[in-house]
Amino acid sequence: MLERLFHEHATGARIRAADPVGFDRELWDILVEQGVPALRVPEDRGGSGMSLMHALLAAEQAGRALAPVPLIEAVVANRLLALLDASEARELLEDCLAGRSLATLALRDAGSAPRQVVPAGAVADAVLCLQGDAVVICRGASRLAMPADGSGQAQHGAIAAQWLDLRECRERAVIPGARVAFEAALAEWRLLGAAQLAMIARRAIESAAQYACEREAFGRRIGEYQGVSHVLADAFTSVDGARMLAWRTVDAIARGEPDAAALLSMLWWWSATTGHEATLRALRVFGGYGTAMEYDAQLCYRRAGAQLLIAGDPERELLRAADLLFGPAAGGTAPAVALPGAGEVVIDFDWGADADAARVRAREFVRRHDSEALRRSMRDSLDGFDPALEAALAAEGLLYPEMPREYGGPGLSACAAAAVHATFAEAGWHMLMPGVTNMLWKVVHHAGSDRLKQELLPRIARGGVHLAMGYTEPGSGSDIFAARTTATRRGDDWVINGQKMFTSTGHRSDYNLMVTRTGPDKHRGITLFLGPVKQAGYSVTEIRTIGDDRTNVTFYSDLAVPDRYRIGEVNGGVKVLAAALAIEQSGGDLYINWLHGICRAALEWADRPGPDGRPLDDPRVRLAIAEAAVRAQVTDALSRRSLWAFAQGRVRKHEGPMVKLMGSESWMWCSQRLLRLAAPDTLLRGYEGAGLIEWSARRSISSTIFAGTSEIQRSLIAEAGLGLPRTRS
Ligand SMILES: Cc1cc2nc3c(=O)[nH]c(=O)nc-3n(C[C@H](O)[C@H](O)[C@H](O)COP(=O)(O)OP(=O)(O)OC[C@H]3O[C@@H](n4cnc5c(N)ncnc54)[C@H](O)[C@@H]3O)c2cc1C
Repeated sequence: MLERLFHEHATGARIRAADPVGFDRELWDILVEQGVPALRVPEDRGGSGMSLMHALLAAEQAGRALAPVPLIEAVVANRLLALLDASEARELLEDCLAGRSLATLALRDAGSAPRQVVPAGAVADAVLCLQGDAVVICRGASRLAMPADGSGQAQHGAIAAQWLDLRECRERAVIPGARVAFEAALAEWRLLGAAQLAMIARRAIESAAQYACEREAFGRRIGEYQGVSHVLADAFTSVDGARMLAWRTVDAIARGEPDAAALLSMLWWWSATTGHEATLRALRVFGGYGTAMEYDAQLCYRRAGAQLLIAGDPERELLRAADLLFGPAAGGTAPAVALPGAGEVVIDFDWGADADAARVRAREFVRRHDSEALRRSMRDSLDGFDPALEAALAAEGLLYPEMPREYGGPGLSACAAAAVHATFAEAGWHMLMPGVTNMLWKVVHHAGSDRLKQELLPRIARGGVHLAMGYTEPGSGSDIFAARTTATRRGDDWVINGQKMFTSTGHRSDYNLMVTRTGPDKHRGITLFLGPVKQAGYSVTEIRTIGDDRTNVTFYSDLAVPDRYRIGEVNGGVKVLAAALAIEQSGGDLYINWLHGICRAALEWADRPGPDGRPLDDPRVRLAIAEAAVRAQVTDALSRRSLWAFAQGRVRKHEGPMVKLMGSESWMWCSQRLLRLAAPDTLLRGYEGAGLIEWSARRSISSTIFAGTSEIQRSLIAEAGLGLPRTRS
C-alpha cells in the first residue's frame, strides 16, 4: 500500500518542492488519513496495533521513495505516547492521530543536552524528551536556527531536523518514571532509521545501475567496466546485508534473544556507514551529473548522510555493541538496555526444531570425541581425515546430514545441516575432506542418472568414499568453460586426457568430478563426469599453500571412465555446472564460522594482560573485534536468506555470491587488521589467541579465491542482481 502511495505522491517534483525543509504537508495528510503514523499504536488506543516488522517495512518504503515526511519519528513518538500513562500524553496522541499535531522525539537527554538537533523538529508541534527518569512533552520549543528560510540550504540533507532549545518551551508536561519506555522508543527509532537508510542506499544503487546500462563511454556502456560494476556489486551486497540484518534484528527482539540489543547497535553502525558510503559510490557512477542538484544521486547521498549525522558518530554505536558483547572497558559501565515490544512478527530466521535437535546431537558427538590432539591434527593434516572419526560421524547421521534416507542418509534439512556444521566449526574441527564430498554428492543427486545415484550415494553415506572437484586447469580457472582436458568416446567408455590444478583432496579421492571438452564450441562442447580415479591413468603431485592447505595437480592420461559416470547430457555440461556452482554457493556457513572463529581468537588474545595493559580496553581493539562480529552477523543474515531460498526452490542468482563475497572478504580483511593490532604476538604461529589470528590471516586468503574469486562473485552479483551487462564470455 505504501509503495503505491509513495509512487503516486513522492514524485521527483514533489520531493524537490519539499526541499529544503523536507516536508510535504499534502503527503503527510494522506498518510495520517490512512492511519500510517498510528500503525504501532495499540488498537484500543486508536491505532492499528501492528508489529515492529510492519513498521520496519513502512520505514523501508519511506526510504526507498525518499518520502519527504517524518514517518519513523511520528510512528515511534505516537507509540510512546500510547504507552505513557498520563492525560497529557493521551490528549496529544488524540491530536496526532487526527492530524492536528505532529510529535517527535529528542535523541539525547534534555537534562545534559538542552540544546540539541531534533529529528522532525522543524515540523513537529511537540517533542518528547528524556530528562533524568522522566519523559517531558515540550510544546512550542524555541528554535535556534531554521533549517532553511527560503534563501538556501541550511542543513546537509533536506530532512526536517531542527536545533531546538528544549528548556524554552511554551508548554511542558513531565511524566515521571518513564525512562525505560523512552529508551525502548529510541531503540525503535534506530531500528527503523537503519532500515530507512539501507533503502535510500538501495535506491541510489539501483538508479546508478540503470544509468550504467545506458550511458556510454569509449564506445561501451559504462556498466561493462568493472571499475563501475564491481563497486556497485560491493555496495549492493553491503546494503542488502544491512537490510537482512535489520530483519534479523526484529526477529531477535521478538524472540527476546540475549544479543538483541547488541544486534541493534551493530545494525545501526553497519547500515549507517555502508549505506552512506553506497550512496556516494552510486553518485560517482553518474560522473559530473551526479553532483548536479537536479539529479537524485546527490539527494540520496545527502538524505543518507543526514540520517546518519543526526544520531552522532556511528562508531560510538559500534563501541556500544562492543560493551554489550564483551563487557565494558576498564572504568566503563555496562550500557542500559531497553528494547521495543515487537508484537507478532511473521519473519523467522530460526533454523527450526530439527536443526536444534541436530545441533544437540552434534554437540554430544563433539563432547565424546573432542581432544586437543584431534583438533590440531584436523587443522594441520595435509593427508585427509581420520577414517575412524568419519565412520563414527556416518553412524550418527552427522557426516552428510542432508543425504536422503532412500540412500542411507539421515535426510535432514539444509538448515539442520548448517547447524551441524556450525557446531563442528565452533569446536575448531576443520573437515575439508567430507566438506568437498558433501558439495559433490549433491551434484550427483541433482543431475546424475538413477543408476549412478544407486551405485554411489549409499556408499558415500556410509563414509570412506571421497570425491574431488576437477574444474581448474593450468590455463583456466575462473574461465571454467575454457577447459582443455578432453574426453573421447571409446565404445562404452570415455578416455580422459589432461591436467587439473588445485584439485583439493584429489590425493585421497575415489571419484573426481571432471569438466571435460567433448566438442569445439566453448560452451556447448563441455561434458561432466564423476569418474573413478583409483586406477591407471591418474596421478597426483602436491601443492602446498600459504594457508597450510594441501591441494594437488592431477594428471589424466588415457583414464578410462565408463559412460555411466557421465553427469548430464553429452555437451550439456554448462547446465550441470551452473547447478553445481549454485550448490557450492548456497550456504556460506563456512565463512560465518570462520568469522566467529576470528572473533573468539581475538578475544582470547585481547583479554589477557599485555605490556600496555589489557588489549581489550583499547578502543581500537574493541572496534576491530566488534567489526568482525558485525560482519559475521551480516554474513549470517545473508546466508539464512540464501539457504531458505535454496530449500524453497526460489534461488536468485546473486544471493549465494553475496554470501561468499561478504563472508570471505570479511574474514580476510578482519584477519589482516587483527594481525597488525595483535603484533608482535602474531609473529608466531600457534593454536590459540594470537596464533589463531596469524593462521586466519594466511588461511583466509584462499577463501577469496576458491569456489570463484571475489571478482567473479562481484560480476555475478552485478549481472544477476543489478542487471548490469555481462563482462565475461
Ligand atoms: C586452497 C585452494 C583450493 C582450491 N580447490 C579447488 C578444487 O578443489 N577444485 C578446483 O577445481 N579448483 C580449486 N581451486 C582453484 C580455484 O577455484 C581457482 O584458483 C580460482 O577459480 C581462480 O582461478 P585461477 O587460479 O586460474 O585464477 P585466474 O582465473 O587466472 O584469475 C587470476 C586473477 O584474475 C581475476 N579474474 C579472472 N577473470 C576475471 C574477470 N572476468 N573479471 C575480473 N577479474 C578476473 C581473478 O579474480 C584473479 O584475481 C582451489 C584454489 C585454492 C587456492
